[in-house]
Amino acid sequence: MSSGIIFSIEEFAINDGPGIRTTVFLKGCPLRCAWCHNPESWKREPQIMVKKGREEMCGYSIEAADLAGRLKRDEALYRDSGGGVTFTGGEPLMQAAFLTEVMDLLPGIHKAVETSGYASPETFREVLSRTDLFLFDIKLADPELHRQFTGAGNAPILQNLQTLIASGKPFVARVPLIPGVNDTPENMEATAELLEGASGLQRVELLRYNQMAGAKYPMVGLPYDPPFQEKQEPKIHDAFTKKGIKLLIL
Ligand code: SF4
Repeated sequence: MSSGIIFSIEEFAINDGPGIRTTVFLKGCPLRCAWCHNPESWKREPQIMVKKGREEMCGYSIEAADLAGRLKRDEALYRDSGGGVTFTGGEPLMQAAFLTEVMDLLPGIHKAVETSGYASPETFREVLSRTDLFLFDIKLADPELHRQFTGAGNAPILQNLQTLIASGKPFVARVPLIPGVNDTPENMEATAELLEGASGLQRVELLRYNQMAGAKYPMVGLPYDPPFQEKQEPKIHDAFTKKGIKLLIL
């Protein structure tokens, strides 16, 4: 039995998949997106956060069986609402052994995974086989721009996206709308091309930039100085519906 590090459990979540859900936030992320609003998720280890002058520990270790037991408490609620459990982060695939162990302890419960897709092909397949729905982030189609704004290239992400598409498994593609970074016609056209014809794709969600993104950086002792105009309204290019892809702007 393994243990993992999580930093939050949110009950009654309604934006992380169908129905009423419990969302588990796993700690650790290999990316450093310039617009990330959860910098406390980056380190895998628990860390101190300073909130209103008071120190709090962010992140704790939990056994797979204990987490599964807690999640199962709301099994009837999930069933009645068509909901389930969603794993997010950080990047939940960074703790794949723990994640898959928890998932295996939740038979019959709908399981969604929100991921950047940044993981080895083997890890992605391990999680894919246990997941009912992916919320798959696609930040930038261009590898160099991806590296510039997230700290890593997107080759593993695009490879795992192809694996997901080939599997036919249901997924929602989530694209953060970052003004002047990825809200260009070129990026939206390229993203739509990546997704065209994917039988499992339920919709694309364009997520507006969170104006509060910088709020938690001082709490973990980091500066927030995004290399884009935070206040600028993002441009919305609908490259998706003309390819027959359902689009939601959030
Ligand atoms: S992948 Fe998500 S959690 Fe990781 S840095 Fe990017 S926005 Fe933050």
